[in-house]
Amino acid sequence: MKFSRLFMPTTKEAPKDATLPSHQYLVRGGFINQTGAGIYDFLPLGKIVLEKIKTIVKEEMDNAGCNEIQMGFITPMSYWDESGRSTAMGPELLKFKDRKGADYVLSPTNEEAVVNIVKNRVTSYKDLPLNLYHINLKFRDEARPRFGLMRGREFLMKDAYSFHSTQEDLVREFNLMEETYKKIYNRLGLEFRVVEADSGAIGGSGSKEFHVLANSGEDTIVVCPDCEYGANIEAAVRKKRHFDAWFENTNTPATMEKVLTQDLKTIEDVSNFLSVAKAQNIKAVMKKAIYEENSEAVIFFVRGDDELEETKACNSIAALELEDISEEELKAAGLTPGYCGPFNLPEGINFVIDSELENEVGLACGANEEHYHFVNTDLSALKDAKYADLITVQEGDICSCCGGKLEYTKGIEAGHIFQLGNKYSEAMDAKFLDQNGKSQSFIMGCYGVGISRLVAAVIEQHHDDKGCIWTKTTAPFMVDVIVSNGKKEDELNAGLKIYEDLKSAGISTIIDDRVKERFGFKMGDFELIGFPYAVVVGKKLQDGLVEIVDRKNTADKIEVSIENVVSKLQ
Ligand code: ATP
Ligand code: MG
Ligand code: MG
Ligand code: MG
Repeated sequence: MKFSRLFMPTTKEAPKDATLPSHQYLVRGGFINQTGAGIYDFLPLGKIVLEKIKTIVKEEMDNAGCNEIQMGFITPMSYWDESGRSTAMGPELLKFKDRKGADYVLSPTNEEAVVNIVKNRVTSYKDLPLNLYHINLKFRDEARPRFGLMRGREFLMKDAYSFHSTQEDLVREFNLMEETYKKIYNRLGLEFRVVEADSGAIGGSGSKEFHVLANSGEDTIVVCPDCEYGANIEAAVRKKRHFDAWFENTNTPATMEKVLTQDLKTIEDVSNFLSVAKAQNIKAVMKKAIYEENSEAVIFFVRGDDELEETKACNSIAALELEDISEEELKAAGLTPGYCGPFNLPEGINFVIDSELENEVGLACGANEEHYHFVNTDLSALKDAKYADLITVQEGDICSCCGGKLEYTKGIEAGHIFQLGNKYSEAMDAKFLDQNGKSQSFIMGCYGVGISRLVAAVIEQHHDDKGCIWTKTTAPFMVDVIVSNGKKEDELNAGLKIYEDLKSAGISTIIDDRVKERFGFKMGDFELIGFPYAVVVGKKLQDGLVEIVDRKNTADKIEVSIENVVSKLQ
């Protein structure tokens, strides 16, 4: 590829809402183009990176004996009705009608669709196990699409679905997929952790997530340095929590019921509500529905010391929905919005304000600990609310850990594998005949990799203040041959020869042969785009020398003779 022929619209300006390096550099480097909230086009360089990641994922899935298929992006609503997820998925599920009035869904995941494929086609245990995967678009109408490719609404996922006749066989495949995923992330050149996870809307009994370690990660993961234990904090905490038991065993005071039935639509409603609560000296309110529905904002309350103890014990807490109140309004009223988590509340803390609840209270409870806001019962004190320095999960809280001192780190969820059991096959009546001729529901697993999220995750882990630093397997090209002055024929010819030699040696190479651009500009593009190496053809050419620049450390250049370029970069 030649720069003179490449469509690569680089810019100096990053989008206003781009806070993460990957978002800024992918837009500035001309890799992606935003067309709507959480919807992106991949431009030539972005498309190359995406394909490289897809290829690695595909190769490892094929090596593990999985079958690649291609399911449609659109699925009929009837599938989702059968599984019960047409309502359970909440507003993330984008529904629409065709011209005949039939209902459809833009698939956010494909459990129902794959069960429909296998049902009545695989009828005997002899045809099992089976693992079907595809790589295609997903759509989730995320409440807050953000961070560029990291949390899109339309995104690319590899999703695989396995079918088994026994639980043991599912566990075998689950372990095989864990190993396969480790190979994938290793090949991508990423530092990652495998952690216990919460199964969320997908369901099932056991699940593990694969986190790319990066400070910008939305998830907090806890890892034990002394044993294998690692968990997403969502899962670590959820395990200890018994929401349902808590709600069932707690009598919501009648006076508060009345308040609860009111709609809290404005900030005045909230203030009134808080004063009623205060006057009644009631510091806890329960509302079960709240954690089953998407909410934009909630207030958590806990009662006095007794309740605080109880809350600590079960790690559950009350919530009240503030659906229509914006973050700005909360802020204007002196309430500090943010994620929250009712873990071990420090003494004297009675209110927790949260305006960014993702799916359910449980998720919010697993949010990042620096986003917690703890404020006092005294409303005036809300104005001074500060982030609490809070320990969320403590050593010894978790049984499967050796009890070592847990360390917290940030991760980007780049993959998630689930042991589903028969949740979907049962609901959709998908059965096979077992060894004894008995009809049984398939036992299933499912396995996701966030392909487009990985494009961003690589950059979150590998960048500097100048731009991207792609890993060797994800780089759009390994080497950028920079012709310092494209008008000089000798430089251009030497550059073209090196370019051809590198390509012949199987090294993916691009040449910056642009005539109009100056050397400094070309170097800037090299740094922004982040090819692993540059070969600079410039002044030293008269001595038969060129410079090799390592993108990881651009100051560190080495001079080599033209003949040695290929062997140096091989
Ligand atoms: P998250 O917790 O980040 O919302 P999830 O748990 O809802 O992700 P899964 O249902 O486990 O996602 O989907 C499998 C993978 O798809 C995730 O591990 C992630 O890498 C990717 N993914 C999920 N949602 C998005 C999104 N909105 N944008 C890009 N990738 C996503
Ligand atoms: Mg999600
Ligand atoms: Mg998740
Ligand atoms: Mg997940």
